[in-house]
Formats: sequence, structure tokens, C-alpha cells
Amino acid sequence: MEDTEEKDTTVELKPGIYDYVPQIRDHIIKGSELPYEIDAIVKDFNREYDLDENLNGAGREKIQQELNDCLNDYDFAEILPFVKEGLSYAQKINNDVEIKPFPIIFIFSPYSRVALASKGNASVINVNELRKRDGSLKEKVVNTIAHESTHIFLSQLGKEPDWTKQDLKGKVLNFLWWEGLAKYVQPYPEYLDSFFENDSKFWVGTVKKWFRSDNNFKQKEDIVNDVINRESFKLVMEKRYGPNHFNLIDNIFEQIKDEKSADDAFLVLIQKAGFGYFIGEQFWKDRVDKGFSIKDLVMKGSEDMSKWIEEYE
Ligand SMILES: [Zn+2]
Repeated sequence: MEDTEEKDTTVELKPGIYDYVPQIRDHIIKGSELPYEIDAIVKDFNREYDLDENLNGAGREKIQQELNDCLNDYDFAEILPFVKEGLSYAQKINNDVEIKPFPIIFIFSPYSRVALASKGNASVINVNELRKRDGSLKEKVVNTIAHESTHIFLSQLGKEPDWTKQDLKGKVLNFLWWEGLAKYVQPYPEYLDSFFENDSKFWVGTVKKWFRSDNNFKQKEDIVNDVINRESFKLVMEKRYGPNHFNLIDNIFEQIKDEKSADDAFLVLIQKAGFGYFIGEQFWKDRVDKGFSIKDLVMKGSEDMSKWIEEYE
């Protein structure tokens, strides 16, 4: 019988703050072997990206350059107090229950993801990507830790939505709830926020319209068209993906042929292109402005989200 099972790389780390950047540096520069648990975490960070394959191929020089740039202004001791501050913001979503300590792991990865709440019980932060973001080091670390810790705290509270059993609507609603809160908890404004803020009525309105457009392909096609031609959309995409953002837009657009593909395109806009973070945050703000307590909203879970959308003004 063939063994097609993937090797399980799950690593159980004790709670604490880990700096794996030095070992990853030695691996990249000197070729020293990564300890099993670090290798597993680097692989888990993105299962489609293989650091060693990239290092052994054409990517080596670029990776070493990025690493050098990154190490020039990387100081783990400087980061530590910001981690504590970030955690304090996540704690505020429910002060009755203390966040259980969990592993927070700093790594270097050429792959462009900033952080991951790994399997809901560890937070992995990519210092290479963090470096490239706008803002001071303090703002970036506090925001990132606040964001990822909110996800982990939600999981500890048993409030992580079941992502597997959802249709498109459910996926969008859960994403807006889950990422919207994590964004809402971040204390420092980010560079892109103002583009959304100035156009938040359009963005919230887009989601409201989408939810009313069941079985109406033409309407969905129009909504995606409106989004793609919107100035705030172009600005955000340009900033986030650089000049290549037009390819991404073309890809989204070309694939729309029927209702199913229109739904898929909408999900890409919300999740992959990241618009759901901001839109979700607007819904949380609106709920809190209406007088609901954060803790009650958190403990209720994501099931009322469609009501939040209906009641948003
Ligand atoms: Zn998140």
C-alpha cells in the first residue's frame, strides 16, 4: 500500500517568545541545518513556499540581500516590550478571562506574509515583511501582536468560526467578523486606512448590495465592475501589490463568467486582496457605536453578522 500521507510537522512549543532569526540566518548564510522545530515552523508558515528550494535555485542572492537588509535594523531586545503591549490590546476583548500564554515566534522568511496565527495556538511573525511595512517599529510590532493575539484569544474562547462548513455567504460573514475584530483591536492607524476611511460608505455599501444580489449574475458583475473602477480600490491595490496590481485585477475580472465565478471573485476581493479586514472593522465600530459591549459581541460569536450588516447605517 502506498503511503501518501503528508508528514506531520506539528510542533508543540511551550508558551514564550522565541527568536529564531539567528538560526535561520546561519542556515541561509552558512548552510547549517535548521533544528527540526524551526524547520517545521518555517514550512508551516507557508506550505506552498519552500525556502531551501528557493535558496538552492535562482533565489539565493536575493534572499541573502534581503536578510542583510533585515538584520541591519533587527534587534530582538528592542521588540520585546512591544510584544507585551500588543497582548494587552487583545486582552481587552474580554477582560473576564485571561489570555492563556502561547508561543510567539519571530522568524525571517523571504515569503511575503507578515504573520500567522498558526493552528490557533501560536503566533509566527516574519521580521522581514514587518520591516517593509509603514510605521515605526513599535507601531508595527504592537499592531501585529494585537492582531494575531486576538485570533488566538478568540480560539481559546471557543469562538473561531467553523471555516469548513460554510457556503460563500457564510465564509464572507465569518471573515468580516474574525478579521474585522483583529483589525479593530490594532491601536495604531496604518497607512492604507485613510483610503478606506474616506470611502467607507462605498465599501460597506458594496457588501450590503452583494448580500441582496442572490441569483442575479448581472448585478454581481456590476458590483465587481464598480469595485474595480473605484479610485480607493486602485490606490490600495497599487500600494499593496505595486505596478503588477493590474494583473491581479485582470485575473479577477477575466474569470467572471457566471454567478459561481462572480462569487469566487468577490471572495478574492474580501479575503486575498484584503478588503474584508477594513470592511469588517467598520462593522465592529458600528456595533460598538450603537452601544453593544465588545465582550458580549465576542462571546456571541459570528452568527449575528448578517444582522449587523442589515442594521449598519
Ligand atoms: Zn488576521
